[in-house]
Amino acid sequence: MSEIQGGCLCGAVRYESADTAITSVVCHCSQCQKQSGSAFSINLVVPAAGFRVIASALATYHDVGDSGLAVLRHFCTRCGSPVYSELDANPGVVAVKAGTLDDPSRVHPQLHMWRDSAQPWVEIADDAVCFPRNAVA
Ligand SMILES: [Zn+2]
Ligand SMILES: [Zn+2]
Repeated sequence: MSEIQGGCLCGAVRYESADTAITSVVCHCSQCQKQSGSAFSINLVVPAAGFRVIASALATYHDVGDSGLAVLRHFCTRCGSPVYSELDANPGVVAVKAGTLDDPSRVHPQLHMWRDSAQPWVEIADDAVCFPRNAVA
């Protein structure tokens, strides 16, 4: 059984990753704030090749990142949960929304991106790895 598995709030979208996560990233960008309805998104980055989705209700919002490249934000059409994203800037991986994991407590964020647009009340550890905008140049 894969250690990375999860799904949306209603269960219509389920996923698993055959691989362990490459990294975990907290994104404070304004789009992630909008989409999550929260202050940031927490993304578990896993190889695309081993990522499998079983979904009866999945749709995609075609967003555009700061790079001008597409960000495909996949969400459940039944309960609205954002589940994972694909980034044209980084096609080898998918970014799984960590709050949808069956066991989110295992995630330890390794870096923060879009620190410049983080909400002022969000506390980020002094020793955390932060990027003011995108983590990739
Ligand atoms: Zn759902
Ligand atoms: Zn973001």
